[in-house]
Amino acid sequence: MTKRIRSGSEDIPSIVSDLLRDVPQQTQTILMVDDDYLKSTDSQVEAESLFLQKANALKKLNNAKNCFDYAFLRRLLQKAPLDSLYLNRKSSDVAFRPVVEVVNREYEDEFLREPKTNERACIKGNSCEGHFISTVEPGKGFTLREFLLPSQYKKFLETNTLPKNQQLCIMCRRAAVAKLYISYRSDKVNTDSLISDYRNYAGVVGEYTLESCLLPSSDSNVGLLDPVVLHVRKWYEMQRVGGIRYYKQSGYSYPDSSAVPFFQ
Ligand SMILES: [Zn+2]
Repeated sequence: MTKRIRSGSEDIPSIVSDLLRDVPQQTQTILMVDDDYLKSTDSQVEAESLFLQKANALKKLNNAKNCFDYAFLRRLLQKAPLDSLYLNRKSSDVAFRPVVEVVNREYEDEFLREPKTNERACIKGNSCEGHFISTVEPGKGFTLREFLLPSQYKKFLETNTLPKNQQLCIMCRRAAVAKLYISYRSDKVNTDSLISDYRNYAGVVGEYTLESCLLPSSDSNVGLLDPVVLHVRKWYEMQRVGGIRYYKQSGYSYPDSSAVPFFQ
């Protein structure tokens, strides 16, 4: 057996040379290392440095700058425990437990418009779903009003106080829930978390049909316990009411009066 002549060792990066030091000379077979070996992409470097800067900070899914953040946050969400399943909880803890609030169609319609002077716009600004409705010419859409949960809206009416952090509009919320829901169902993943802090009525007169909603799955826990309306860009139409631009939910049909309610 002839001994292979080592060559090109000057091309081996120092990190690999360090590893090779622990390997007996006669078993070393690495002759060259590709130029791209161990190189990180720009987005990977950005994600890693962002993660290190904010390692212990509370991050929101909507702040995800790239797919690395998204994958990390999604895994975090899958692990989050649900308070209601924790048997040893104290009553004082339960008071702060997030509650899924129910909203009806009429309530949502009032949030499908541009903001008035004392209201805030959707936090996504020009990236708001209101700019991407397919029944409206590109560039003619608008940023919707920030969506408030009924409890937040009650506080706003009583004390004129808005939530501390600016929030998403109803369309962007629907889109965010759909994104998580579809990714959970397609990956057949179970989660202990809830992916929506509000829910809709489905199959109830004057509300939405079951076909227009994302529904809880019977064979896995996808983060929904009740229906939430599915976001479909072609199901909205723009109209003006008293000079204010609204989106009408023209594609979301009403259920028959004979339909059996999914949830009341
Ligand atoms: Zn929005």
